[in-house]
Amino acid sequence: MKEIHYQAIVEEVSEMCKRANYDLGDDVYTAFKKALSAEKSETGKEVLTQLIDNADIAKAERVPMCQDTGTAVFIVELGQDCHITGGSLIDAINEGVSKGYGEGYLRGSMIYNPLNRKNTGNNTPAIVHIELVEGDELTLHMTAKGGGAENMSAMKMLKPSDGMEGVKDYILSIVKVAGPNACPPLVVGIGIGGNFERCTYLAKKSLFRSVGERNEDSAVAELEEELLNEINRLGIGPQGMGGSTTALDVKVEVESCHIAALPVAVNLNCHASRHQTTTF
Ligand code: SF4
Repeated sequence: MKEIHYQAIVEEVSEMCKRANYDLGDDVYTAFKKALSAEKSETGKEVLTQLIDNADIAKAERVPMCQDTGTAVFIVELGQDCHITGGSLIDAINEGVSKGYGEGYLRGSMIYNPLNRKNTGNNTPAIVHIELVEGDELTLHMTAKGGGAENMSAMKMLKPSDGMEGVKDYILSIVKVAGPNACPPLVVGIGIGGNFERCTYLAKKSLFRSVGERNEDSAVAELEEELLNEINRLGIGPQGMGGSTTALDVKVEVESCHIAALPVAVNLNCHASRHQTTTF
């Protein structure tokens, strides 16, 4: 049984929050460069150049790449032979978020509840999903999820008779409605299957995969490629200014569902697609 102390988690989560906001991942940065060389619109190229410059400045000067420093969302893979000592895992994550956002001068965006809309002041609570896995390791996947892109996300219980064409039409309709409001170029996370709540989790989970990484299932990988091409034909472009780069990538996760159901969730991520992973 591996033991991991509460404080070790606090310290690491704090650093993850800072790194996520200052250091755009190599996957997204490489995707910006690739998009810049492929982009057809001059305005689109200019916007992509600004996004690359912005990422460089954030990294060099240790400042957030966007004023919206996001909701801290975690997917935790907790080994069943791993024991957290000195306090609870959820408390450690929240203390780490509070520490990281405070020390890093990162905006606190969380409110106590939508009825009073009072800011908690330290970007907690984090949203934490725990998956129990085999082994004795603890892996934390973190994203700082921007509010604009989250607001333009959607879920629908389609009918099985809608088929794959209905699924694709729905996904494209959500990206079209989002237009510039989700801060493209996007990473489009899609969940297909599960049930009402599981489907939206799948869409969120898909966004934790690196840009450019295809689903292991070749049929799903093909769907990801097809949707990426379709979305980039919409002409929304970088920051909605027109162009051939509306999305950097499309991620699809698929799971079993009821015979009467065809749940589809579209979780949009903006160009500040920030994710970090740490394993203890
Ligand atoms: S959606 Fe993303 S790019 Fe847009 S303001 Fe929020 S974090 Fe920034």
